[in-house]
Amino acid sequence: MTAPAHARTSADLIRAEEPVLAHNYHPLPVVVARAEGAWVEDVEGRRYLDMLAGYSALNFGHRHPALIQAAHDQLDRLTLTSRAFHNDRLAEFAERLAALTSLDMVLPMNTGAEAVESGIKVARKWAYDVKGVPDGQATIVVAADNFHGRTTTIVSFSTDESARTGFGPFTPGFKIVPYNDLAALEEAVDENTAAVLIEPIQGEAGVIIPDAGYLAGVRELTRRKGCLFIADEIQSGLGRTGRTLAVEHESVVPDVLLLGKALGGGIVPVSAVVARREVMSVLGPGEHGSTFGGNPLAAAVGTAVVELLETGEFQRRADELGVVLREGLEALRGHGVTGFRARGLWAGVDVDPALGTGREISERLMREGILVKDTHGSTIRLAPPLTVTADELRSALGTLEKVLGQAG
Ligand SMILES: *Cc1c(COP(=O)(O)O)cnc(C)c1O
Repeated sequence: MTAPAHARTSADLIRAEEPVLAHNYHPLPVVVARAEGAWVEDVEGRRYLDMLAGYSALNFGHRHPALIQAAHDQLDRLTLTSRAFHNDRLAEFAERLAALTSLDMVLPMNTGAEAVESGIKVARKWAYDVKGVPDGQATIVVAADNFHGRTTTIVSFSTDESARTGFGPFTPGFKIVPYNDLAALEEAVDENTAAVLIEPIQGEAGVIIPDAGYLAGVRELTRRKGCLFIADEIQSGLGRTGRTLAVEHESVVPDVLLLGKALGGGIVPVSAVVARREVMSVLGPGEHGSTFGGNPLAAAVGTAVVELLETGEFQRRADELGVVLREGLEALRGHGVTGFRARGLWAGVDVDPALGTGREISERLMREGILVKDTHGSTIRLAPPLTVTADELRSALGTLEKVLGQAG
């Protein structure tokens, strides 16, 4: 007989997953049962500092009281209508999200990949209806080493072979150029280009930060050449880098902004395409949709997220704690850390491969009570909730120093 879930150990639960769950992930061997703020607790009651924060889906920490309250209140009132009817939460969500991002109109979706797909559809339709690109000829220019999600169309323009192999045939209409290379972009964009789609900072690639001037350059180039600038801020946005949006570091407003992850407050999947009116207006009734997109529960939580960001508190924290993070990593340079890239409360840390793979370092950190995730090879990514304290951050960096000192 199967033991009741509450009586099973972490080891039992990990073993139980193997035959019944698709093997598309290789999680660290920790089974989380409870969480609050920057801390999670496993089945056996061991506590860990969450230095990944759900890939930035948990920017406000686990179960932020204001977000949980908003969700509870909405659960007691109305959860789903579909867009066949209006609901009384959606207008405010869209108004406040548009205002927060200096854009005009919102297309609410659920997951990040859906926001990317939707942004691509909007850009293509804009190319045909407004720009006058011949039917079926619109292209979208993207960057190498991108990560925009997992759908068939999105993996069509991935350069990560493990994301693509075995999943063809692929969607045509994408051109790939090197990231952080304005000259390559200049060459790739032509009269049939609908949009340039990039991440202002490439998170999955290892927190790759482009040179100063790149984002402003993309803005200038796309405007001059008459195509759209789509910024995928699903991971970089909503406070992570010390600004509401990473594009703000260069005072840039894209034509189309893609948001997700933290927009759902770590509670429900909420994503959005936010765009200039002239662009979003290409969509008419029946041309795009989502059963759950813009549902009242998502709108209530999303509005509460926007409300937290309107205070500026989280952006300020990310900015200030970012200094602590950079100083701590700087001190580890040459002591197991070969290099790092950091902006706000977000860092990609390259560990000396002689000390172990990113995975091995992550497992050692886990045993010391710190949860992180490796990206490629020997790079680990640090992205704690923006609610983490300076002391917690210093303590995590101290643990990293200890683990790197022992490794090898
Ligand atoms: C996570 C992510 C996505 C995909 O979001 P999902 O919710 O996993 O579909 C897209 N773009 C970026 C930059 C991301 O980090």
